[in-house]
Amino acid sequence: MALRALLWDVDGTLAETERDGHRLAFNRAFAEHGLPLHWDAEGYGDWLRITGGRERIHAALAALEGVEPDPSRVEALQACKQRHYAALVAGGGLGLRPGVATLIAAAAAAGLRQAIVTTSGRAAVQALAERLLGSLAEAFELWVCGEDVVSKKPDPEAYVLALRRLGLEGSAGLAIEDSPAGLAAATAGGLPCLLTLSHYGRREPLERFTAARAVVSGLGESGRVLRGPACPAEGITLSYLLHLR
Ligand SMILES: [Mg+2]
Repeated sequence: MALRALLWDVDGTLAETERDGHRLAFNRAFAEHGLPLHWDAEGYGDWLRITGGRERIHAALAALEGVEPDPSRVEALQACKQRHYAALVAGGGLGLRPGVATLIAAAAAAGLRQAIVTTSGRAAVQALAERLLGSLAEAFELWVCGEDVVSKKPDPEAYVLALRRLGLEGSAGLAIEDSPAGLAAATAGGLPCLLTLSHYGRREPLERFTAARAVVSGLGESGRVLRGPACPAEGITLSYLLHLR
């Protein structure tokens, strides 16, 4: 079946939001609440195995204090963290990963439909989109965010919902993801997946991504195939994505 739609993950795929955004926002929230917690870039990779901001804060407090944290404290920290994240994004602290803008524009020009499929909160996603995508945001006809689903990735619910709203079979789409959880969600949702390794994805053994149609170091001219079909010399462009099908 011909490729008709690209379904984009946000965190780690469009931008290095985990390392350069969420991590810093957590640290600022911890500091604001007087907590002796600070996640450096490498150590945060371990915390990322816990999906969801609230869940990560809960686990960090439990590890620090040795008791189950009060839910209201977790909620207050999460709200504080979200405020810092929005400020960080609005302040221009994050940029799109290389090749992303060119690929979105090329896909739009070729008539492909495009959707955002994330289980992060809509406010954070919208703030990021406004600051980073600009007019490219119009290329996306559908946004599935955390509030739209019961179960976060690696559950396939977000992808199943996106396909239903697009009115497409999974075989007509291609998911672009950066993590094992995202890959698992796309695959279980019936979508082939291109894996573009983000900072934290690079820490994983390549064997974790065997379900991906291809694993690449990034998108655009500088992107290289690490696993999967070889690509023409010009890098990970739309023609490579079409070739993957
Ligand atoms: Mg991701």
